[in-house]
Amino acid sequence: MTKPGVVLGTEDAVVAAAAAARHFSFPPPRTGGDSCRKLAAQVDLGAAAVTGSWLDSMKASSPRHKLMAPLAAADPEHDDWMERHPSALDRFDALAAAAKGKQVAVFLDYDGTLSPIVEDPDNAVMTDEMREAVRGVAARFPTAIVSGRGRDKVFDFVGLEELYYAGSHGMDIRGPTADPNNPNGKEARSVLCQPASEFLPVISEVYAALVDKVETSIPGAKVENNKFCLSVHFRCVEESAWGALFEQVRSVLKDYPGLRLTQGRKVLEVRPMIKWDKGKALEFLLGALGYGDDGRGDEVFPIYVGDDRTDEDAFKVLRARGQGAGILVSKFPKETCATFSLREPGEVRDFLRRLVLLDGTNT
Ligand SMILES: [Mg+2]
Repeated sequence: MTKPGVVLGTEDAVVAAAAAARHFSFPPPRTGGDSCRKLAAQVDLGAAAVTGSWLDSMKASSPRHKLMAPLAAADPEHDDWMERHPSALDRFDALAAAAKGKQVAVFLDYDGTLSPIVEDPDNAVMTDEMREAVRGVAARFPTAIVSGRGRDKVFDFVGLEELYYAGSHGMDIRGPTADPNNPNGKEARSVLCQPASEFLPVISEVYAALVDKVETSIPGAKVENNKFCLSVHFRCVEESAWGALFEQVRSVLKDYPGLRLTQGRKVLEVRPMIKWDKGKALEFLLGALGYGDDGRGDEVFPIYVGDDRTDEDAFKVLRARGQGAGILVSKFPKETCATFSLREPGEVRDFLRRLVLLDGTNT
């Protein structure tokens, strides 16, 4: 099926890719390189001097000062970063050419990707326009939401039954509960993966302890129960209190060696000490769709869009597979394993709208 008005000239796209900036190569090489391997988000709770280094990392991943500052007219650092991670909208034709003849599958983070980062995480709603864009993509391609939020909560935000949902950083995966194109899609509906279910009691216990200790002593701190993991949001915490907040969280977690602490965008994440992350969720979902390493893995073109350090695990999987497109949502230069960038959720919406118009061979 070819939609009118859509130009997918493969040669043009290859020429465009070749003419891209000198630092940019697409498809990317099959390795992430040293810079990818260094992107570890886990905090070592046992290190004596961890607070200072953790605070530095926290500030670097939560650039509130930069967000308030206008972009300089000439910013060599930003220009260099954009050469290495060009806009997925500007390079859409090259991306479409690489996807030609393959099954596109779409994976979307939620906060900061489909919805803006807002002060109250309970108010992180997506626009109707974004919902329609996601609905359109899901009607064409297998589509999943991969979020640190609890699966039920992110479903409440998105409200589309035809999607796969991977909540709790991929530790709670469920297939579509309805498929308008395939009312009998029982196989998709049977997809279920909960690798951390044994941690449910301890997560509930730690949630209560964190609410009691952190929310009552750190103004603005908010603890969110995501079922298989917890989030300690510091979006509304004064920067001068970040160190105290971290110490409070660490003091609770020291009694729970089975849990680990990771850092996201203006959030601390408490997770079970299991080898499972958004990258593992991506691999599981590709396998569930029939595109695992032992199957038709070369026939798929996964597109993963996310804004957070926790999304880097998924970008690394795409690098390791040497396929697809990782897209980081960021206005500012960040160390990333993603290939492309988009500036903010509005650009994600525009990208999804263009994706819907892809040539029929990608279905
Ligand atoms: Mg996010």
